[in-house]
Amino acid sequence: PPFVLSRDDHNISRDDIDRAALDVLYPLKRAGYDAYLVGGCVRDLLLGLEPKDFDVVTNAEPEQVKQVFQRRCQLIGRRFRLAHVRFGRNIIEVATFRGHDQTAPQARGRFFGRKKFAQTREVDESGRLLQDNIYGSIEEDVWRRDFTVNALYYSVKDYSILDYTHQGIEDIEKGLIRLIGDPQTRYREDPVRMIRAVRFAAKLGFRIEKQSEAPIRELAPLLSDVSNARMFEEVLKLFHSGVAVQVFEKLRHYGLFEHLFPQTEKVLEQESEGFPRMLVIEALKSTDERIRSGKSVNPAFLFSALLWEPMQQRKQALMDQGEVHQNALFAAANEVIEQQIKQTAIPKRFTAQIREIWSLQYRLPKRHGDKAQELLEHPRFRAAYDFLGIRVAAGETAEQHLFDWWTEYQEKTPVERVAFASDLK
Ligand code: ATP
Ligand code: MG
Repeated sequence: PPFVLSRDDHNISRDDIDRAALDVLYPLKRAGYDAYLVGGCVRDLLLGLEPKDFDVVTNAEPEQVKQVFQRRCQLIGRRFRLAHVRFGRNIIEVATFRGHDQTAPQARGRFFGRKKFAQTREVDESGRLLQDNIYGSIEEDVWRRDFTVNALYYSVKDYSILDYTHQGIEDIEKGLIRLIGDPQTRYREDPVRMIRAVRFAAKLGFRIEKQSEAPIRELAPLLSDVSNARMFEEVLKLFHSGVAVQVFEKLRHYGLFEHLFPQTEKVLEQESEGFPRMLVIEALKSTDERIRSGKSVNPAFLFSALLWEPMQQRKQALMDQGEVHQNALFAAANEVIEQQIKQTAIPKRFTAQIREIWSLQYRLPKRHGDKAQELLEHPRFRAAYDFLGIRVAAGETAEQHLFDWWTEYQEKTPVERVAFASDLK
């Protein structure tokens, strides 16, 4: 039986809960199903933080959820079959309890053909979970979740919180990220859990519990098996978390970073006088500040900063072989992006922007006459200018003057700009 925190024993009130989430929970309850808030939202509400999203879990199967919400509901996902219920711009993810596959494969065969999506759970040779569509009870659902603090269920039946691991509430109080079950097994099932542990630790200011921490360094290479598309999404979550600097330090500490950005790790290892580490830190600091003040962040900016030094070094090597600057820049950019894509699939629109931010670094000094105005109108000007600022903050003092010039230029009226640009010597 779960440890139960009744409504009087916790601080979560219905006012804290997203309207759309309640609009999903109550109809499910009225239709006779069990429905709970689960995961990050319960954890964050208990910690007095504002949840990013509200996830609902229920004993209704996806088709039944569809029955309840009709056209508001869309069924998605193959690896994990889910229902999305839409209220205006708000989408609430509704999952069905997942169970373990303890039945023999022959017994499982019975289900094939009965449903459009067979109830299957697939694990590959290395123990990695490929598919998990076996429905179960809440008691089973708990154990497939990653961390104790992510496995708390908030019930709309009596507004209590259910803690089946008997450790989730305690770990929230102690500030611990603890895997449910055997850490080795759980990381092998899904290596992304290693970087999730780091992200939550940084985000919540928690520590990774000793036994959950111990195997990370050794198992870090398993990240190479994760699809590069998923890794791209995970990298964005890591570095757009508002605590990117801490995430970066922790990833390096656990030997995880080298599996996300091998080329960057290589140049960081040969760092001198704090550079290029400072460039990465400054870029992440600025990303954190933007996130915290509610501004938008561009993945291309992040990647152009993380890969700047590898690109620079490759470019230099090509120039040492006699290549002219423009060609060396072009080739180095291609090679470095090509290499990075093996780890994180960067969508085309972003790789184009990364190249632009880089090549603009060499165009920003050339601002005579009409050139300045042309550059200002370049769609990537702002990102390129910000990036120049990061380089200066990181210690490229030679660029200070150029950066100040562009700052001043932008502050002027269009008429003043003409004179300002023609005054250049
Ligand atoms: P966030 O604040 O980033 O949304 P979250 O805990 O809600 O944090 P999600 O990625 O939204 O994280 O996942 C929701 C829940 O699903 C988690 O709390 C956890 O219970 C479960 N979960 C997510 N990813 C995994 C995973 N890789 N392995 C096991 N359980 C997972
Ligand atoms: Mg979430």
